[in-house]
Amino acid sequence: GDSLKRRKIAVLGSRSVGKSSLVKQFIENQFMDAYYPTIESTFAKTVTYKGIEYECHIIDTAGQDEYSPVNAQHAIGIHGYILVYSIASRNSFDMIQIIYDKIVDFCGVTDIPCVIVGSKCDLSQSRQVQSSEGQKLGQKNGAPWVEASAKENINVGKVFDLCLQEIEKRTTPNQVE
Ligand code: GDP
Repeated sequence: GDSLKRRKIAVLGSRSVGKSSLVKQFIENQFMDAYYPTIESTFAKTVTYKGIEYECHIIDTAGQDEYSPVNAQHAIGIHGYILVYSIASRNSFDMIQIIYDKIVDFCGVTDIPCVIVGSKCDLSQSRQVQSSEGQKLGQKNGAPWVEASAKENINVGKVFDLCLQEIEKRTTPNQVE
């Protein structure tokens, strides 16, 4: 119908990879150097993608490790995922496939609408994960991959555009309102 289309997006990844910063830059155009661990917050922003307005509800999660189960809150009613690692943390990169597989398992599907993000790409001097590795991981999972920096505001809007793109390409018109 004519009503705003609502899309729920969850941001997942290891702790301190820059999930909150990415969301904050996207919502408020701000970056902070201080680190305040997130419990879990939801933000809303209206985004126009391909001429259509979407009311995006973005769930910024506390962060996952190999022992965190994917809970229902991160699966039920979620339209798309932003999976974030830091290019300066090999461990956080290794977590992406683990999180991806857990969501796929939980949802009982073969693939999920998601974008894989190598964050903190301004930290080139501390790089532990090569761009080619990120690209390969994306290809393996059929997901777009992009490097971004919340600090320098590089590719932040693109992350959310790519996520909507992945959601919309699996959604037939009017399937989700
Ligand atoms: P979260 O736990 O994944 O939500 O991570 P935060 O967004 O809280 O960020 C953790 C730390 O990394 C904070 O000190 C941020 O200032 C810093 N940080 C986040 N994004 C970037 C970035 O793009 N570049 C740099 N250099 N630091 C960042």
